[in-house]
Amino acid sequence: MPSKNHKKSNFKYTPRQVLPPVTIQETWNLALYYQNDQDPQIEKDIVATETAYRAFAKKWRKKPFTTDVKVLLAALTESEQMAGNPVFVRPGRYFWLRSCMDTKDTNATKQLSLIQNRLRKVTDEVLFFGLELGKISKAEQKRLLKEPSLAHYQYYLECLFAGAQHHLSEAEEKIISLKSRQAYGRWVDMTDKIITERHVTWKGKSVALPEAIELINVQKFADKPKLWNLIATELKQIGEVAEHEMNAIVTDVRTEDERRGYKHPYSATVQNYQDTEESLNLLRKVVEEKGFALSRKFYEIKAAYHDVPHLDYSQRNESIGEATKIPFADAVAICRDVFYDVRPEYGELFDTMLAQGQIDVFPRTGKTGGAFMSAQSGQPINVLLNHITDFKSLETLAHEMGHAIHAKRSMDSQTPFYDGHSTVTAETASTLFENLLFDAVYTQVDDHTKLVMMHDNIAGSIATIQRQIMFFNAELEIHESIMREGGLTNAELATLMNKHLASYLGKGVKLTPEDGYTYVYVSHLRMGFYTYSYAYGLLMSSIMANRFKADRSYADTIDRFLCAGESKLIKAIYKDAGIDTSKAETFETALTKLEQDIKTFQKLTKK
Ligand SMILES: [Zn+2]
Repeated sequence: MPSKNHKKSNFKYTPRQVLPPVTIQETWNLALYYQNDQDPQIEKDIVATETAYRAFAKKWRKKPFTTDVKVLLAALTESEQMAGNPVFVRPGRYFWLRSCMDTKDTNATKQLSLIQNRLRKVTDEVLFFGLELGKISKAEQKRLLKEPSLAHYQYYLECLFAGAQHHLSEAEEKIISLKSRQAYGRWVDMTDKIITERHVTWKGKSVALPEAIELINVQKFADKPKLWNLIATELKQIGEVAEHEMNAIVTDVRTEDERRGYKHPYSATVQNYQDTEESLNLLRKVVEEKGFALSRKFYEIKAAYHDVPHLDYSQRNESIGEATKIPFADAVAICRDVFYDVRPEYGELFDTMLAQGQIDVFPRTGKTGGAFMSAQSGQPINVLLNHITDFKSLETLAHEMGHAIHAKRSMDSQTPFYDGHSTVTAETASTLFENLLFDAVYTQVDDHTKLVMMHDNIAGSIATIQRQIMFFNAELEIHESIMREGGLTNAELATLMNKHLASYLGKGVKLTPEDGYTYVYVSHLRMGFYTYSYAYGLLMSSIMANRFKADRSYADTIDRFLCAGESKLIKAIYKDAGIDTSKAETFETALTKLEQDIKTFQKLTKK
């Protein structure tokens, strides 16, 4: 057994190739958008947007554009040009990015809100366009989809027609969009704000709950449950209001979906992700059967390793040694080596983003937390990080850059209607680059670090695959129970959550009734079945990474995948990459690597 107090080695990565030097600008350069918040171009761009929307509405509202193919083609072409006009999103994007750099920049948040109000009014004016297209009769839809001159718009129309079955009237759609902030957003913000403002006293210091939850990871094994109990006590109290939040937002979405005629609580999400319910069902079945058995086994192995009958909930991710420290300059060198190795233009994009100030690297007071990539047609791509020198930050850099490479390749290859992504393929691209980065580092570290990395990688995969499917199941049961029973109380929500936590944690983790109050702070449970995209994305990327490692010519297939944007259903995009998502074996195979890693981990920890 490796020593538990192993001194960490000084890891130095050796790049596999010689690359040109790169300059790094560590904060966003928003002059890529406007000179400053007083730039007169901002108002000019907003006015240009308003004018264009009004002109579009005026031109097409009264004109029958769905009865003649030529007229329809002209209307669609204009509509796509509007979708790709970089001027339309630039002012809002600029102030939003400013507010991310400094959440206390109240001028930015106010300007953003004013712009959104102005733009909502004009986008409402063109709402009729999609609704009118949706009213085309079934027989006529069939004919139009075969029309050669509309070939470019075929997939766009297919998606629109499929969605149109759930359209409501223009007046109803407007009311729903107006009320969504109150019916959903405000409720979720309320719970979130209470969580942010509640504190626990830990080691003599008052710590806000979100920070306290983060702090669990760095506590000693025996201290973890003590801190978690303090947090859970607070969560249980906040649950007195979160109960009403949950019941309100679930009833809101369920009654809306009912009016729209969706079959299952997750049907709208699946359609939005350009996915099929068949694939989702296969994914869930395989993860529930094979995946949950693997995670349960892992936690049993861990309990034995830590020499306890079972872990507490807060101890489930206890590390088995300190991970390697990697300064940002080294993180850049490793990522460049990986990106250039797959395809030089991926590395070049990274270099450009570093040099132009499109990556905001380090945490700062007031800067928004977490990490993200943001891309919109015709705009510079932006990545936000809160980089500290740990391995996880390096993985996050590779993850967000994976999103950026995906966005760039698709924007370069597709037209505005198709240059976005399904969340599922987006999470495939990001985790693919994470996977390749992991291997590049793994092959160069000493044996002890290898074991630590493998452990963290297994724990990370379980958090992405099994835990997210568990959240999906919990969310589904919350929706069904609230509708069936007329509501759920705080205690009932916690009991339900606990049952699902147990489903993937197994006997290796002993849950207490308080652990179920995690439902209060898990924001993903409020995001409409979004969770499954993580599991799906990671499973697909693990297949793609394995193929690339076995045959480097698969890089061309990867690039085709990255260029595909949202130009077809995701099952077709995966099929082009040689992956059949209509078969259970595909999802089972995708779990093989995790299965092997858990076996190896068990062997190595038993020695
Ligand atoms: Zn992501």
